Amino acid sequence: RTPGTPRAKKEKIVVLVCLRPLSKREELAKEQVSWDCLGDNTIVYKPPPHERSAQSTSFTFDKVFGPGSTEAVYEEGVRNVALSSLMGINATIFAYGQSGSGKTYTMRRIMEKAVDDIYNHMIKTPEREFAIKISGLEIYNENVRDLLNTESVGNLKLLDDPEKGIVVEKLVEEAASSHQHLRSLIGICEAQREVGETALNENSSRSHQIIRLTIESTVRESLDCRTSFVASLNFVDLAGSERAPDTHADGVRLREGCHINLSLMTLTNVIRKLSAGKLSGHIPYRDSKLTRILQHSLGGNARTAIICTLSPALSHAEQSRNTLFFATQAK
Ligand code: ADP
Ligand code: MG
Repeated sequence: RTPGTPRAKKEKIVVLVCLRPLSKREELAKEQVSWDCLGDNTIVYKPPPHERSAQSTSFTFDKVFGPGSTEAVYEEGVRNVALSSLMGINATIFAYGQSGSGKTYTMRRIMEKAVDDIYNHMIKTPEREFAIKISGLEIYNENVRDLLNTESVGNLKLLDDPEKGIVVEKLVEEAASSHQHLRSLIGICEAQREVGETALNENSSRSHQIIRLTIESTVRESLDCRTSFVASLNFVDLAGSERAPDTHADGVRLREGCHINLSLMTLTNVIRKLSAGKLSGHIPYRDSKLTRILQHSLGGNARTAIICTLSPALSHAEQSRNTLFFATQAK
């Protein structure tokens, strides 16, 4: 932290819960909707008839969002976190949830809105000069691959730079020359991720995608370094949460028969410790690639929002409950 850099207040992690609609396939299969939003901050489990004796469970958050409210998710939950990056405060926005729950869908829309917002802010702030750079990477089995370099064969190394902190060696960083250019660079990252999935015959359930914008601004015609801001804004589309351990109220259990993802497990540990207020104690950032890369954008002088996505289908109720347990521990 250079002198004069703005400091984020010690703020809690913003946790948002988003319930997607039933998919066409789920509708055709006559899947039952097992979750309901009650007001705008409670989500309730509706047990099927044979489970009537089981108590219905409800979870309360700052905000819960029903189908069709991606706009509101951005406006009410994510905007402030995203825009703090314009003021020199690092920010990270995650999508967390089981495969098929809507992480990629939601993150793409959030990113689009954030980028629109950032360019609007730039137009409205003519006294400052802004520069935006973008990089994109994917972490698959702890292997880091560049999403902007189509020649990259992966296996990028992480280096501890005394000045810049953790640096991903050889990661391409492109300067965005315009709003449209930035959109097309994001498009390249997304397409590259899909190419990788096809090549590996895998879906995105095992990989994490990070799109990082580095936003720098200075007051025009000022030589005072305190008027310069630089911060990263990270958009993180996580691996499917079925690859994290169960995090029930009575502690953490490793799930059987599912390959646990080291980066996701470490991230959930880090988030739990941060939200419990352990800013000074040991936070295990160094235990995985994902948390090392995000270390300076998580906790401390950084702002974080986690969008937890849920499928409404009864057949996914157990996974949805796991997501809500994680969301409860993160807030
Ligand atoms: P994930 O990335 O979590 O695996 P996706 O984002 O790929 O899930 O979403 C799975 C499917 O559900 C996709 O076909 C997507 O278009 C659809 N979907 C997800 N969220 C919504 C939503 N809020 N409204 C409408 N369709 C959605
Ligand atoms: Mg996805």
